[in-house]
This record gives sequence, structure tokens and C-alpha cells, in this order.
Amino acid sequence: MSLSLADGCVGIIHYTLTNDAGEVLDSSAGGDPLPYLHGHHNIVPGLEGALAGKTTGDTFKVVVPPAEGYGDKSGDGPERVRRSEFPKDFPIEEGQPVPVETADGGHLTLWITAVKGAWVWVDMNHPLAGETLNFDVEVVAVREAIAAELEHGHAHGIDGNAHHHGH
Ligand code: ZN
Repeated sequence: MSLSLADGCVGIIHYTLTNDAGEVLDSSAGGDPLPYLHGHHNIVPGLEGALAGKTTGDTFKVVVPPAEGYGDKSGDGPERVRRSEFPKDFPIEEGQPVPVETADGGHLTLWITAVKGAWVWVDMNHPLAGETLNFDVEVVAVREAIAAELEHGHAHGIDGNAHHHGH
């Protein structure tokens, strides 16, 4: 009997993400499939929900509205900050998430939307906020998560033994 995707399982999936205009925004095709830990918000809620109960070999399409994807757009739009305000080794490029600490000690992620000369534009919206996401998915494999993955809340590669990354 093969395992179905539920909390505490690692799903290994191939996916292609297109927007409503049919443009491919992201895809694992031609590369390694993506391992994710089910039930730990590693992927957008709409996709995780559609994967629940699926098993090895299943293929499906799912349309994920913004509320189940990267959220609706909010805020007043991108703000301009000086490049010199970023740490020296920070990879300043479009689409890059920027972890920031708020005045009350909380954590927030901003996203770089544009870079021009000495200026960098950052926005509180994920680059895909407001977009309807069309996923085309193949479940390549399902396995039980190992203890370290459950502890960290994410998958450690296809077999659970991926060389470790910083946290
Ligand atoms: Zn880890």
C-alpha cells in the first residue's frame, strides 16, 4: 500500500505554475522535483490542500485564488531605500525576499521589486500577491518525514538526508 499525503509526510512533486495569461511563472520540469513537508506551510495553502490525500503517481490541476495563494495585494506600493542600507553581502536583486525586524520586535518579509543605481524598491507584497495560480502537479513520491524534518518544519531533500543548510 502506498502512503497518501497527510501531515507529517514529505511529498515530492513536479509542478508547473502558470498565471491566468498562460505564462509559466515557475516550474520544476527539467530539474529535480520539489520535496515539501505536508502540513507545515512550506507551500501555498491552496496547493497543500489540493495535495492532501494524493499518492505517488497522481497528477492533477488546481486553480488557487490569491486568498489561498500569496494573498491579495495590500499597502501603498513599493518604497525606495538606499542600496547602502542593505548588508554588504546581501543579494540585491528583483524578487529577493528581505527579512526585516519591525519596531515592536516582530519579523516581516519584504520583497525587492526593482533595482536602479543606488536605489532599491521594496514592497510588502509577495511578487505573486493578487495572482490566481494555476498549478499542474505530479506526485512523484510520498514518504514519512524523518524526525529532523518535523523538528525544523521543512523537508531535507528527496531522501531526507540532504546536506544541511543554514536556518
Ligand atoms: Zn532543516
